[in-house]
Amino acid sequence: MRDLLLLAGTAEARALAAEFAGIPEVRPLASFAGVTADPAAFSIPTRSGGFGGVEGLAAFLRTLEQPILIDATHPFAKQMQLNAAEAAALTKAPRLRVLRPPWPSRPSWIAVPDLQAAADALPGGARVLLTTGRKDIAPFAARADLDCTLRTIEPVPGLPPHITPVIERPPYRLAAETRLLGQGFTHLVTKNAGGTGTAKLDAAEALRLTTIVVSRPPPPPAPIAETVGEAVAWLRQIVANGP
Ligand code: NAP
Repeated sequence: MRDLLLLAGTAEARALAAEFAGIPEVRPLASFAGVTADPAAFSIPTRSGGFGGVEGLAAFLRTLEQPILIDATHPFAKQMQLNAAEAAALTKAPRLRVLRPPWPSRPSWIAVPDLQAAADALPGGARVLLTTGRKDIAPFAARADLDCTLRTIEPVPGLPPHITPVIERPPYRLAAETRLLGQGFTHLVTKNAGGTGTAKLDAAEALRLTTIVVSRPPPPPAPIAETVGEAVAWLRQIVANGP
C-alpha cells in the first residue's frame, strides 16, 4: 500500500479523488489550503492548512509510506506548484502536476501578464466585473476611478466603496452571465483559468465588452497531465512500476 497525497482545490482534484476508489494499491489523502470556510464534502480523507513551505511539505511526505504526490491545485496556485515540485525532488517522491489547458485567446481579449497590468489596462470610469479571486484585488482597490463589481464565493471584508461585492458559487450559466454583464458593464477581468467555465467569456464577447485576461504563471517541471484521465493513467503506471 502506498500513500497518495493529493493537493486539492480544483474540480480536477475532486474528480481524481473519485477515481482513487478504483486503485486499491493507494491510500489517498486530499490536502486543502484551508482558505474556504465551507468546502464541499470530499470522497476521500482530507487535511487542511499549509505545510510550511518546501521543507514542511518534504517533512510531511517523509512521514508517509512510499508517497506519491499529485498536485491538482489551481493553475494560478503559483507557490504551491513550485513547493510541490521541490519537495518531491527532495524526497524523491513521484510527482505529477495536473494542469488543464488555458483558454485559447479571442479577438476581443487583452492579455496581460499580471493583475497590476490588468488594472493598468482599464480606462478611468470603466465598469468592471472582477472574477480574479478575493486575494487579488489590491491593484483594483487602488483605482477609485473605476466602478468595480467583485464576484467571489465567500464575502471579502474591507472592500473600498468603488468595489461592490457579489457572492455566487459556480457553475455560472450563460443566461445569468449575460444578464449580469448586460447591466452596463464595459469590461470583464479574469485569470486564464481554463476549463469549462467559459460562460462569462461567451457573454462578454456577445455583449462586445473588452475582456482583460491575466496570463498564467510559468508551469512547473514535467510531468504534467492536462486531464483527469491522463493523471489516472500516470498513477496506474507509477503503481505498477514503482518506485
Ligand atoms: P498559492 O499562492 O500557490 O499557495 C500559498 C500557500 O498556500 C502555499 O505555499 C501553501 O502553504 C498553501 N497551500 C496552497 N494550496 C494548498 C493545498 N492544496 N494544501 C495545503 N496547503 C496549500 O495558492 P493560492 O493561489 O493561495 O491557492 C490556495 C488554494 O486555493 C489552492 O488549493 C488552490 O488550488 C485554490 N484556488 C486558487 C485559485 C487562484 O486563483 N489562485 C483559484 C481557485 C482555487 P505552505 O507553504 O505553508 O505549505
